[in-house]
Amino acid sequence: MKAWIECSQTVIERAKGVYLYDTNGTKYLDGVSSLWANIHGHSHPTIVNAIKRQLVKLDHSTMLGLTNVPAILFAKKLVDLTPNNLTRVFYSDDGATAVEIALKMSFQYWKLKGKKYAKKKKFVSFSNSYHGDTLGSVSVGGVAMFHEVFKPLLFRTIKVSYPSCYRCPLKEEPHLCEIDQLKEIESVFKAHHQEICGVVVEPMIQGAAGMVPMPKGFLKNLEKLTKQFGIHLILDEVATAFGRTGKMFALDHEKIRPDFLALAKGITGGTLPLAATLTTVEIFQSFLGEYEEFKSFFHGHTYTGNPIACSAALANLEIFQKENTLYKLQGKIHLLKTLLKSFKNLSHVGDVRQLGFMVGIELVFNRSSKKSFPVVQRIGHQVVLEAHRRGVILRPLGDTIVLMPPLSITSTQLRKLVKTTYDSIHTITQEQKPQRNSI
Ligand SMILES: *Cc1c(COP(=O)(O)O)cnc(C)c1O
Repeated sequence: MKAWIECSQTVIERAKGVYLYDTNGTKYLDGVSSLWANIHGHSHPTIVNAIKRQLVKLDHSTMLGLTNVPAILFAKKLVDLTPNNLTRVFYSDDGATAVEIALKMSFQYWKLKGKKYAKKKKFVSFSNSYHGDTLGSVSVGGVAMFHEVFKPLLFRTIKVSYPSCYRCPLKEEPHLCEIDQLKEIESVFKAHHQEICGVVVEPMIQGAAGMVPMPKGFLKNLEKLTKQFGIHLILDEVATAFGRTGKMFALDHEKIRPDFLALAKGITGGTLPLAATLTTVEIFQSFLGEYEEFKSFFHGHTYTGNPIACSAALANLEIFQKENTLYKLQGKIHLLKTLLKSFKNLSHVGDVRQLGFMVGIELVFNRSSKKSFPVVQRIGHQVVLEAHRRGVILRPLGDTIVLMPPLSITSTQLRKLVKTTYDSIHTITQEQKPQRNSI
């Protein structure tokens, strides 16, 4: 935070569509959807009106022993939109809790299932994965910079390699690579399936790792292995759901049927905190019993299923339908792909990765050796500051520049976003000198 404290800070005052405005009236294009959350632009009238209507009707009532109308209606919509084995919805407030709830439910499910499964206590997770910042979700995380310091507080998990082709630890060609072929995962499942509750994964693309897509078929093969060995498949779609990857859910790319599905970020169109963990009727029913058996899932948050947030979430889905959001998105994904081709002309761009409206542009000091810039140079941060001066808000993940615009962005605005990113990378990487900047 030192650099932040020492500089003049930007205070955002209002927003409209894809633009943010600060207290000086300066306008910025929101290139990362206010941290991957915004879908249809800021303050979309359909969502604003839904929130207003709900606020005067019912602000909040507890989900302990009660429920409310928007929570029921939205749960039904989620069940209709997701694979038909997912029929039960558990609400919470953010992505980390949605994942943590899936972990706890999976763990307790195996406990309730009886002695035969008593050894099932562990989870498998991927290198460089990110599932949120609470201790449970950090335990299944794998980003050293965020997670290392908390290690003594975490529960142990079995880590397997994620197929990061650009930086393959085996230095293999894709498709020859044993990681891509799930060899390691298969041997872990074979040896330890009696101890494993589930495997948690960001489907189709790792987000916080730097936008790293999976090879085609990887997720499908992972699904097969989980079924074969009796291990829960827990999909963390916190970043990928609600159109981000070009389909409503990332699982739609390979028609995956997970045991758990965690949703948050875009769920309310980027307006209010809400999350949901979906699961199957089989898992739901295992928690049913007489009061004195204490089979219940003892987990709850005060604002769980908040009716205002659920109304915003319903309005979010309504806009998808009314504005044909997914259909219009396809052309823009294609345009983005075309525009990104020019980044190969920049000598310090090592890799450009894209799935739908999720883009990572990895900057390297040396392209042929893939050597990174010295950490002190904070090259990703410098590029983001440059873009800021040029009226575009971005956020780096280390040396990877992320583009994640609202799905509602126009082609013209998209061109502006990509051009500004290009120019900012060009300016900063040409200078090559560490800078100390304001902002
Ligand atoms: C952002 C994110 C989370 C955490 O969500 P929060 O709402 O910030 O707690 C979890 N998983 C993935 C894949 C994410 O991108």
